Amino acid sequence: MPGIDVHCHITHMENPESVVREAMQKLSAVVTVTAEISHAEQALELRSKFPDFVFVSLGLHPEYCMKYSGREIASYMELIRHSRKDVCAIGEVGLDYSWITKSDEQERSKEIFIQMIGLAKELGLPLEIHSRNGDKQKTAIHDTLKILTDEDAKDVVMHCFSGSEDEMKYAIENGYYISFATIICRSRKHQRLAGICDLGSMLLETDSPWLDPDEPTHGVRQAVPELKNRPWKIRQSAQLIAEIKQLSMDEVLNITEENAKRIFRID
Ligand SMILES: [Zn+2]
Repeated sequence: MPGIDVHCHITHMENPESVVREAMQKLSAVVTVTAEISHAEQALELRSKFPDFVFVSLGLHPEYCMKYSGREIASYMELIRHSRKDVCAIGEVGLDYSWITKSDEQERSKEIFIQMIGLAKELGLPLEIHSRNGDKQKTAIHDTLKILTDEDAKDVVMHCFSGSEDEMKYAIENGYYISFATIICRSRKHQRLAGICDLGSMLLETDSPWLDPDEPTHGVRQAVPELKNRPWKIRQSAQLIAEIKQLSMDEVLNITEENAKRIFRID
């Protein structure tokens, strides 16, 4: 069946291999993304078992930037260079002012982000960008776009994009792809953004196991979510976007799949 989930974290799920096997019945491919250095190896192992279906993006979520020394990050970048043939993107990388609130830590996360953009350019790979404003510091997305522009990044996917309409338009004008996560099933803001985003610039993702569209939002909300989102739930987003754009669900799945193949060079 058509459809590519361009951003999920299969290594964060129970029984990753059985998740992959089920996803193979329901989708064309998945891009599993590392947020954490310690997950890279497992992601690459999954790819070696399912080379036609699992594609791997290696990066470091800004949340973890303070956890590693410059030396550790340099050796991680070496590992990415050596794994180049099995890597389809660098990410997730970017800025997050909801997790990283101190200015010196934000500066460090910017430095690492710039290094990762350099690595993507060196290796000829696209970037999977994480950018999230804080409750008070609402400039992370603005700063992210500025750095991408200053560093002349070309192949860019804005993962789970949550910026303003103007920021989205700016990203599209620069040729970036806007990736809509399954949060769209519950968020009017994301539905509005999807309404004005051309299908040619659009990608689908789950960010699973997080952002489960089926997680109850009313009544007793669990303190710890069950992390039950899975890659094939992009079909729920596709259904919703099809309604917004008055297309068929298959059209949405097929066009976003073609976009994903183009940016990640998936045959
Ligand atoms: Zn993610």
